[in-house]
Parts: sequence; C-alpha cells; structure tokens
Amino acid sequence: MLLIKSIEVYAPEYLGRKDIFTAGGKICRMADNLEVPEYLGAEVIDGTGLIATPGFIDNHVHVLGGGGEGGFGMRTPEVTLSDLTPYGVTTVVGLLGTDGIARDMASLIAKTKSLKEQGISAYCMTGSYQIPVRTLTGDVIKDIMMIDEIIGVGEIAISDHRSSQPSFREFAQVAADARVGGMLSGKAGVVDVHLGTGRKRMELIERVVNETEIPVTQFLPTHVNRGKKLFEKALAFAQVGGTIDFTGNENNDYDKEYKSKVVPAKGIRRMIDEGISDELFTISSDGQGSMPRFDADGNVIGMSMGKSSCLIKEIRDCVFKADIPLEIAIKGITSNPARILCLSNKGRLKEGKDADLCIMTKDLNIDTVIAMGKIMVRHGEMLVKGLFE
Ligand code: ZN
Repeated sequence: MLLIKSIEVYAPEYLGRKDIFTAGGKICRMADNLEVPEYLGAEVIDGTGLIATPGFIDNHVHVLGGGGEGGFGMRTPEVTLSDLTPYGVTTVVGLLGTDGIARDMASLIAKTKSLKEQGISAYCMTGSYQIPVRTLTGDVIKDIMMIDEIIGVGEIAISDHRSSQPSFREFAQVAADARVGGMLSGKAGVVDVHLGTGRKRMELIERVVNETEIPVTQFLPTHVNRGKKLFEKALAFAQVGGTIDFTGNENNDYDKEYKSKVVPAKGIRRMIDEGISDELFTISSDGQGSMPRFDADGNVIGMSMGKSSCLIKEIRDCVFKADIPLEIAIKGITSNPARILCLSNKGRLKEGKDADLCIMTKDLNIDTVIAMGKIMVRHGEMLVKGLFE
C-alpha cells in the first residue's frame, strides 16, 4: 500500500493537488486530504512540489533486440528493466523487426512474460516486418485470440527496401485478420505499420481504409516523422481520425532545421495548430531497434539504437520548447496509446485503474516510478532490478 500526499496530478488532465492511495496494485482512492489508518502500514510518499502522471506506455520496443542490418555483429541486445523503469516506462509493447527468423514469436512471448514477472506490464504483437507474417500458431487470428500477451500485429513494413514489398491484397488480409482476432478476444487487434522512406509512403494504408470496410482506427502507423512528405500524409490520416505514432530520439535537436525528419514536438505542435484532436498521436521509442544509416546505394554506413529514455526527452521538448501544455503532451505516452491498444486499466490516474505512476519534478525530471503499486525507482535509483542487472 502506498499513500502519496499532496501531489499535483496530471491524469493526464490536470486535477490539481490530490492524495493518491494505492493497494493491491490498483489506485483505490484519489481525493483531497486522505487519511489512512496507521495499522494498515501504507508507505507514505510526500508529493509536495512534485507532479504525478500515469506511468509511461512505450508502444514500440524491440524487446528482444532488433535489426542486424549490416551483419550479425550489428544485432542489438535485449531490453532490461534498467532501459525502461528509470525513464518512467511501466508498460511496454514488444515486437519483432527486420529479423523475424533469428528472433521469433516464441522468444518474443517468453521475453514479454519475463518483463511481466519482473514487475512491469508487457504486451506484444504477432508478426514481423514481412508478409506472410511470422506467428506462433500459424494464424494471426489464433495468436491474438489465444495468447494473452498478444494484442495486435506488427510491425508490418511498407514503403521500405527491407519490407516484403507486400501487395494490397496481402496487406489488407493481415489487417482483416488483426481486426477479427481483436474483436473475438476483446483486444485492440491493431496493426502497427512501419513506414519506410519509400515514395509510396502510406499508400497501402490509405487504400485499405478507402477500398475496404476496415476502419482507420485499425492502424497505428509508426515513424511518421521520419520524412517531411511522409508527415504530410500522416497529418491527412489523422485528419480523418487515424492515430499516428511519432518515433522519439534522445538526440533530436528541437532547434535544428532537419532536411527530412520532423522532431516530435514540432509535429505535435503542427497537429494542434491544424485543429487535429490531441487524442490522435502517440510517441514511442523504437527501443532496442537498430537504426542503420544507409548511403544512396543502400549500403549500411553506421548504426545507433533506439532507447525508451527518449520519451521524457520528447515530452520536455513539447512542454518547454513547443509550448504544448503537459496535460496534452503527456497523452502521447499515456492515455492515447492506452486507448488505441485497448489497455483499459492503463494510461490514466483514476480510481480502479492500475497503480502505474510516474512522479516527477516540475522541470520533468523523473524521481519515482511505481508499477502495479510497487516502487520500482525512488529518487532516481532502481529499487527493483532484473535478475542479471
Ligand atoms: Zn520500425
């Protein structure tokens, strides 16, 4: 049990100063001046001068490591708790990437279960970059229906030289299966779509939305900010109700004029200025994903790796540089991903929801992180570590 006293609550909407009482992994009460009998032995956290938000949801992490473009020596490592909780992440969605052979669904599900046993909430997607997708049971619908951890399909790569160059028919079939699997199991059945730098941009998604009965809400296109022309397409997609996922990066420089990429804070500012709903964006890290840099001929010329630490960095840029209120910016890593992924107990500070909280200073430095009611990080120090960390 925890009693957090006198903390400014962003639920994500701003609720003012509240006390929060958690027990059994849930937020039980959130009110003014809560008194909890001493015999209950609740641990008390003084929230004076601090703010509380929902724990962060990183909706796109290659938890097994990803990539390997450039050779086996370029394979990136698996995620550990120390890559997540110190940066506020209490819920992670894992997926395979370019390599769906040497990393497979059985390992992905095992890794997802492992993160859950270590105290955070974890889910995963079935499938990989390529169509036909890799699955555990041989069937997308069966994977989503029968395996607790699986909530959708992805990331399916389109407009990328590493994709399987799927046809419209193949791509629509995967989306249709994801939709039915989601409906039959009460899950999102969302299709996470990796967008490359190819000239067709979001064309396959647009065609499925225009030519089939599959709704725009079935898709979560990611890396929408990797190119300026691609971002214009993403804005049009959001204009008709689609949710778009920005890929954050710790090295993004808000003040720099990039030739191609759009930094998330500027992109989100643009959405708001165009009157697009602030429910329709998410930010993810592409954590542990290799980020190969290619020359004009497609040769790998360098490599870096995504990290969940970028989430709070992008939120700081939104708030302190792009003048976006915290209660809007923070939606991108809390209530918005919770909605599109149908994680009904996540993404909000509200009585009855899971006790996942991030406690920060006013300048948005993370102090304390609570996952399912357990203190994972206190004053920046990990109290709960993975077994081999
Ligand atoms: Zn990707």
